[in-house]
Amino acid sequence: MLKRYLLAPGPTPVPPEALLAMAAPIIHHRTPEFSAIFRRVADRSRVLFGTEQPVMMLASTGTGGMEAAVTNTLCKGDRVIVVEGGKFGERWSEICEVYGLQVTRIEVEWGTAVDPAAVASALEQHADARAILMQGSETSTTVLHPVAEIGRLIKDSDCLLIVDGITSVGVVDMPMDRSCIDVLVTGSQKAIMLPPGLALVSLSEKAWKANERSDLPRYYFDLAKERKNLEKDTSAYTPAVSLITGLDAVYDVIEKSGGLPEVYRRHLILAEAARTGALAIGLRLLAPDSPSPAATGVWLPEGIDGGAFTKLVRNTFGVELAGGQGHLKGKIVRIGHIGYADTFDVVVALTVIEMALTKMGHRVTPGAGAGAAQEVLLRLYDGS
Ligand SMILES: *Cc1c(COP(=O)(O)O)cnc(C)c1O
Repeated sequence: MLKRYLLAPGPTPVPPEALLAMAAPIIHHRTPEFSAIFRRVADRSRVLFGTEQPVMMLASTGTGGMEAAVTNTLCKGDRVIVVEGGKFGERWSEICEVYGLQVTRIEVEWGTAVDPAAVASALEQHADARAILMQGSETSTTVLHPVAEIGRLIKDSDCLLIVDGITSVGVVDMPMDRSCIDVLVTGSQKAIMLPPGLALVSLSEKAWKANERSDLPRYYFDLAKERKNLEKDTSAYTPAVSLITGLDAVYDVIEKSGGLPEVYRRHLILAEAARTGALAIGLRLLAPDSPSPAATGVWLPEGIDGGAFTKLVRNTFGVELAGGQGHLKGKIVRIGHIGYADTFDVVVALTVIEMALTKMGHRVTPGAGAGAAQEVLLRLYDGS
């Protein structure tokens, strides 16, 4: 028997309440019954996003939401500034280039957060920039970027702040309106604790104004059309019925377990525990200075091949951790502690890292990681 543990930073495990809700027979989407669910989920999503604006739901993965963010707010030939500090930052540049935008990259060393001063200076050099595109949390490098500080830079200008919040929405307290985010995107298979296939997108008033001017081609991903339909408690095309029903159940789960403040607190504690444990194993952190609460990246010891390591962890121990992407491939391992994750997920991750290292001939002290993490993890139960 090999019991499976999904401890990657996406897709993530789904709570049983949501699995059960999604197992219900499909109901037709143009019915009062579904409209009521659709409306409730859309309203609850505004709370999750921290916005007064409507949150649109698209049947796509997060990348579709990223593409919609670009095509609905920008014009052919526009200059944009992209924060590129990992695989997903590069994705912003790729999308923008496909649509003929002029991309100015701020190259950030992988494993570090962008310096707001670098963004300020890029804005000075490119006064024509129409948007800054960045990640809230760059999952490939397990870095948290200072979104609100960038928000303050563009607050009183026409420049939009477009944020991929796929591993920050529902992870860190980064409310869209107060952080001056103009377009915020997330996807269902990360902190939202659902299967892949749903993207959520919201636009600020400033972004809706830009939407009126925007001339990039779009058909399915037409957010103005979605907003109009959302006002009538429906969507332009067939919505992802089961995922939306599942999202309603997820919001119940969050509410019953202390609400969003508790969600943010849990992520911070799990991340701190993962880092404390990794250091106790003797591993170096990939992002020591600005770590993401969604996932923790660690450098593998010299001589340990990352590909063989994650394969051993998966095939022998049944645990899914994530390896590195781009030039980090083979060199790091990432522990996901996002969404439906708790104490014992972190304990499993740290322990399997020790056991796999041991099996690969690297000497570690058994239990060092989970042992060191315990004190941090106990804080989760303070007051309960
Ligand atoms: C997972 C992820 C994506 C990609 O989302 P898909 O759902 O695979 O399209 C984009 N950005 C970040 C930060 C992610 O973590």
